[in-house]
Amino acid sequence: MPESVSLVLSPREAAYPEAIQRALEKKLGRQLAPDRFVVSRRSIDSRKRRIRVNLGIRVYADDEAMMPSLPGFCYRDVRAATPVVIVGAGPAGMFAALRLVELGLRPVVIERGKPVKYRRRDVAALNRRGILNHESNYAFGEGGAGTFSDGKLNTRSKKRGDHRRVLHRFYQHGADGCILTDAHPHIGSNRLPEIVSAMRVTIEAYGGEIHFQQKVVGLSVTGGRAMGVRLDDGHRIEGRAVILATGHSARDVYEMLVDQKIALQAKPFAMGVRVEHPQGLINRIQYHGQGRGDFLPAATYTLVRQVEGRGVYSFCMCPGGFIVPASTRDGALVVNGMSFSKRNSPHANAGMVVEIRLADIAARDTAGPLAGLNHQLAMEQTAFENGGGGVVAPAQRLADFVDNRSSTRLPTCSYPPGVVVSPIHQWLPDAICRRLQAAFKVFDSKMKGFLTNDAVVVGVESRTSSPVRIPRDSVSLQHVSVQGLFPCGEGAGYAGGIVSCAVDGERVAEAVARMLGG
Ligand SMILES: Cc1cc2nc3c(=O)[nH]c(=O)nc-3n(C[C@H](O)[C@H](O)[C@H](O)COP(=O)(O)OP(=O)(O)OC[C@H]3O[C@@H](n4cnc5c(N)ncnc54)[C@H](O)[C@@H]3O)c2cc1C
Repeated sequence: MPESVSLVLSPREAAYPEAIQRALEKKLGRQLAPDRFVVSRRSIDSRKRRIRVNLGIRVYADDEAMMPSLPGFCYRDVRAATPVVIVGAGPAGMFAALRLVELGLRPVVIERGKPVKYRRRDVAALNRRGILNHESNYAFGEGGAGTFSDGKLNTRSKKRGDHRRVLHRFYQHGADGCILTDAHPHIGSNRLPEIVSAMRVTIEAYGGEIHFQQKVVGLSVTGGRAMGVRLDDGHRIEGRAVILATGHSARDVYEMLVDQKIALQAKPFAMGVRVEHPQGLINRIQYHGQGRGDFLPAATYTLVRQVEGRGVYSFCMCPGGFIVPASTRDGALVVNGMSFSKRNSPHANAGMVVEIRLADIAARDTAGPLAGLNHQLAMEQTAFENGGGGVVAPAQRLADFVDNRSSTRLPTCSYPPGVVVSPIHQWLPDAICRRLQAAFKVFDSKMKGFLTNDAVVVGVESRTSSPVRIPRDSVSLQHVSVQGLFPCGEGAGYAGGIVSCAVDGERVAEAVARMLGG
């Protein structure tokens, strides 16, 4: 067994293998060969002025075999195997497909959007010219919402499945090895497209299928059992099971399920705004007045506070990143955030959202399971009406927002389509606005200087999690009333974020194999 050693080093020392080796030798009191130790864990501790890097290291004896650090993924040839339909090629759908191939089943993935190569152009047209393609954008297309996402690979749902397997799959498809050791792994929007495409190559190489620009408009259900799907061009695709992994931006999928009388439930979610600061300011706050220098990453933050009985929290913080347009329909504005692998833009953005419970919307909406979805759409439409046309977003300086004061001019903002001055405090739903204003004051007491007019609030962050659940049995993972239908990932309301959706995809694939007697 390798010896586990912990080291606490300065950021500069932790950046150089030679310095790590010297520190290790000092701690162990013996000399080591450079290829006899492996850094297995890396995290930054910036709580005190003297910032340290914590390293977990495995040290091997000279005659000891180095442990294989990667699990083997054993893909099988599934050309002649039983077909399973997967709707959606996001993290949930892609990881379900990869796992099915390992389990000897043939995934047939149906995706409404385009392959990454073409999707990239649509995303560029959206950013540069404000042209929204309804089927190819930040939410729809190869890799789903995960492709042009920030690529943070954190997850809080570690109990539900093996998140390490997911990280290893990302690594095997081209992600940097540091995602296996960093406490807060991150890939970046520039690297994700090639990784997602490499996953497709694996699926297809072993006989799985991926069909792009094919939209599912109905489920084939016979005798209470899912037999396949109907496409918008009239074709049917049959499979022994259907995995529904359509994300939470496909409102039409929820409407389709309602039309087919397939049970859905409204669920709590969260909405708010995105806030953007100069990254230098966040670095100074988090690194105690120092800049980040050459050895520290762009600083991050996580903030949370209860206000009037509801959680208010930062979501998907993107250091060195950009705010991006994540709308999927005309007349409704949604923003989100991303960064490139180097996280080197001069801006730091994060969603700042307020928890919304069913009781908060039930009284005002009689739409049953789609109540939350309607509430979300109403806020996105209000943001559009207060924006500058197309995907030009409404914005306000942060301190002005908190003080109920209209801004006159705006600081530079990373949002590519541009922002216009808008009194967000006047049109944001009062229950959200009030709580955000109170929380920003508290956040300023935790991070001195956070509440500043150098920061800007951009509207609206409405798609943090699904407002709908497609209920499934907790053991078989099949829909509660349709056999062979497996709701999966974020759209099903059982996962959120790349890793947790990927883990859910793998679990669901295993449940399908169990159902089919594999
Ligand atoms: C800009 C941005 C940044 C993000 N950053 C992060 C981050 O850093 N870390 C993180 O963990 N999460 C992040 N997320 C969230 C993350 O991307 C999602 O949680 C995750 O992608 C959800 O996975 P999913 O597979 O369940 O659904 P999705 O990724 O939404 O994929 C669903 C797929 O289904 C397809 N589809 C929908 N309807 C149909 C239909 N009728 N027929 C055929 N296909 C259909 C869609 O086109 C889509 O490709 C970010 C999201 C965005 C938009």
